[in-house]
Amino acid sequence: MGQITLNKVRKAFGEAEVIPGIDLQIDHGEFVVFVGPSGCGKSTLLRLIAGLEDISSGNIVIDGREASNAPPGERGLAMVFQSYALYPHMSVRRNIAFPLKMAGMAQAEQDRKVEDAARILNLTGYLGRRPGQLSGGQRQRVAIGRAIVREPAAFLFDEPLSNLDAALRVTMRHEISELHQKLKTTMIYVTHDQVEAMTMADKIVVLHAGRIEQVGSPLELYNAPANLFVAGFIGSPK
Ligand code: ADP
Ligand code: MG
Repeated sequence: MGQITLNKVRKAFGEAEVIPGIDLQIDHGEFVVFVGPSGCGKSTLLRLIAGLEDISSGNIVIDGREASNAPPGERGLAMVFQSYALYPHMSVRRNIAFPLKMAGMAQAEQDRKVEDAARILNLTGYLGRRPGQLSGGQRQRVAIGRAIVREPAAFLFDEPLSNLDAALRVTMRHEISELHQKLKTTMIYVTHDQVEAMTMADKIVVLHAGRIEQVGSPLELYNAPANLFVAGFIGSPK
């Protein structure tokens, strides 16, 4: 579960060739970070994997199944949005249960899954609250909870911490790493922050202008950057 293969995946918006062609293998249980400067195509690549954008050519295989044209709901993946995507008028319980309710799951089963997710995320005491009554970190955990209940083959994160303050970012980074250790599910995490990439990743994919500059473990990139772009990007403080 959570094996994703990209073969010559290309994306153009009209004349603009944003991703000229990417080959990438993501293995079961890996924590993969897409890192690169703003505008390099990280979000687009994630959205192509999620099915939120159509690929222009190439193909995407998820767990052995051709998924290039599958709608997002049939890919078995869950995108974690930033916490401000929560419904402010709904309780934490209803926010987390939302995708299950949409899928028509029986109430008792919804409750059980929501309570399991709340336990994993230390939100058990907060299910009756609304997002506005939570801290920033708790809100981000609710957004993650909404993904967990779907039991996806992989979690996709697009800069989930970018609207949190620096201290909370560090805490949440650890929480997401711990979550990965608990669930052992594939995670793809997009960030422009090289510290986040170096501290969280099993495998880093360095992107630049829609192309992969290098794929490797944090140590491999640090010890043997493939080129000056990677060396400069990994080496430079934020
Ligand atoms: P990143 O997430 O790395 O900052 P994006 O994937 O958002 O980069 O964007 C990569 C490039 O694709 C940018 O030049 C951006 O302007 C362009 N782009 C993204 N989405 C669209 C779209 N829907 N239509 C046209 N251009 C887009
Ligand atoms: Mg982006």
